[in-house]
Amino acid sequence: MILTDTHTHLYSKDFDKDRKEVLQRALELGITRFFIPAIDSAHTKAMYELEEDFPKNIFLMMGLHPTSVKENYEEELEHVREQFEKRDFYGVGETGIDLFWDKSLLKQQQAAFKYQIQLAKRKKLPVIIHCRDAFDEVFEVLQSEMDDELFGIFHCFTGDHAQAKTAISYNMKLGIGGVVTFKNGGLDKFLEEIPLKNIVLETDSPYLAPTPYRGKRNESSYLKMIAGKVSEIYRLDLEEIAAITTNNSRDIFKV
Ligand SMILES: [Zn+2]
Repeated sequence: MILTDTHTHLYSKDFDKDRKEVLQRALELGITRFFIPAIDSAHTKAMYELEEDFPKNIFLMMGLHPTSVKENYEEELEHVREQFEKRDFYGVGETGIDLFWDKSLLKQQQAAFKYQIQLAKRKKLPVIIHCRDAFDEVFEVLQSEMDDELFGIFHCFTGDHAQAKTAISYNMKLGIGGVVTFKNGGLDKFLEEIPLKNIVLETDSPYLAPTPYRGKRNESSYLKMIAGKVSEIYRLDLEEIAAITTNNSRDIFKV
């Protein structure tokens, strides 16, 4: 069984003390593929070090997280562009819009999001979307950029059934994480109506740990609990869920 964590921040400082052990725990459960979204230039070095330490399992992406979009966001996008000049990545992101923390930078977030979508299209790469309190704003940008080249993952999907269908209509797969295990998460109410070909699994570790670890540090080995919940919802074996969602991740990331 091969499970794929399509979204994990394994380079985070939260893992500085036990990164190897964290990775080992995941590998032992069959979680062997880790897709690593970027945040901003302050994290680039740690991402490259992670890749050097585990070259067979780590797949890096590059981009600028919406909560790292500040007044200097153009410099940050320049950093992203420079990294793409030096080497290849498996995706662009994470990018998107986050109005939970700060609404005052919406214009800048929209501009950074558009820039990264266009970069992804030029590179024929998936775009990894972060959306918090901003479905309308994200869909508006996607609508303006919609064409045959647009595809990617709506990471940590937390919307309702209608929003799920809208995201899929923009060629996005839904990244299903720990929220699916939450009692009040809402996803379990309609997820089985979404064809499995549109689903990939993720932890978003160290954030958003699934039940029973909710509120604690999340790690990639917990992906198995997320997969377990998804297998319950779709009434399919865990092995089947692993095979289908890993296959979906191969479609997206071409690896
Ligand atoms: Zn993330």
